Amino acid sequence: MSNLKFCQGTACHTYCTQDRLRGTKDNKTFQTRRRSSFYYGKSNFCSLNCQNDWWETHGDNAVDHFGRLTKPKHLTEDNAWVKDYDWRVDDRQNAYFYVNKITKERRPLTEEQYRNDNYTLNQTN
Ligand SMILES: [Zn+2]
Repeated sequence: MSNLKFCQGTACHTYCTQDRLRGTKDNKTFQTRRRSSFYYGKSNFCSLNCQNDWWETHGDNAVDHFGRLTKPKHLTEDNAWVKDYDWRVDDRQNAYFYVNKITKERRPLTEEQYRNDNYTLNQTN
């Protein structure tokens, strides 16, 4: 069978476009879009409208299900390191660096460290 999947938009079938009109001559209906992949919402929605419709219907329940924030998160010195790159630096050796968003401290990086997603200065809690 095909790997086609349906748009998860709650109202996809109510948008009356020609590509949604399916069925035989006397039995036509507007149907939810079906594709091998979609561009929106991690390939779950055919359009931003459909993604927004889903969120309008299920958003509160989804946030409650996965854990609603009840207090602020904190970015601390220990986990405020971000990789950055200065394209104006001619010397490739010094173009890559870590910068701490809180202290503004900079630490040099090699290009390899910069491109390695597993390389981090942040402490995991
Ligand atoms: Zn849709």
